[in-house]
Amino acid sequence: MVLERSNPGQPHKGRVLLALQAHSDDIPLSAAGTVAKLIEEGYTGYLVRASNDDMGDAPGLGTPGTIGEHVLGNERDNDEVARVLGCKAHFDLNYSNHRMGDVSLNELIGRVIFLIRLVKADTVVGWDPWAHDEENPDHYTLAKAVEAACWMAGRAHDYAEHFAAGLQPKAVQDKYYFARRPEITRVVDISKQIDKRVDAIRANVAKGPGGHCGSRLRAELAKRNQRLPLLDDDDVTADRNYIKEFSLTHSRELGRQYGVEYAEAFHYIAPGAAGADRDPRIDSYVKEHAVPAK
Ligand SMILES: [Zn+2]
Repeated sequence: MVLERSNPGQPHKGRVLLALQAHSDDIPLSAAGTVAKLIEEGYTGYLVRASNDDMGDAPGLGTPGTIGEHVLGNERDNDEVARVLGCKAHFDLNYSNHRMGDVSLNELIGRVIFLIRLVKADTVVGWDPWAHDEENPDHYTLAKAVEAACWMAGRAHDYAEHFAAGLQPKAVQDKYYFARRPEITRVVDISKQIDKRVDAIRANVAKGPGGHCGSRLRAELAKRNQRLPLLDDDDVTADRNYIKEFSLTHSRELGRQYGVEYAEAFHYIAPGAAGADRDPRIDSYVKEHAVPAK
């Protein structure tokens, strides 16, 4: 287990992060603090959204509006998530929401390979392809495609037409995978980025009350001549304080276990773990045993 702490300055300058989500709220609810942290520490970040969120409503809350209105609302919310997290650009792949179970896996792999090579990604953040308890086919289909694409994007014979168009092979070996029930190998301290995580959650308003829960509750109480000090001042403050108090309980509890205020958990796969690099022991062996050629 590694606790990744806040780094001073911009040690990751020059590196590129590809953050991939199926829906506009996946990264806000699971990994937005880490994405914001890596970008603050020097990464150039790009956000990919695989679905068009046309079924995007909040569980148990119901969403006013039609399927078409969900598409537009979530498209706007996703733009805002990218802005809040400091991403340089974002890409929407526009697959139908909840229908990714039988999209062509090869097509999706090919599209992710193209993006990895285009932005020259060094690191990905996305759903864990090996996780348990995942019920949403968009999540596990994208996860599988990303895992394969990270490896294949580095190979000279896969999608070789990309090279004729000016791209280069580029493998990704640094992966932060999030999940409902993650196999946790890394915990990231996001205390410094907590306000960005809150605002990324707050940006998701198309999926039902979502990011506006605090102001809604505030208005509801006002009608009954009541107030909660937590929700005082104005609607934006009410939304932010509501998210901090009620939506980030898990992040706070995880942080407490590791002695920090807020944290996010990942199944982290480190460079070299997939065996694509030469085992460093071979280089040590060569250094120790090589003699001049006869
Ligand atoms: Zn999702």
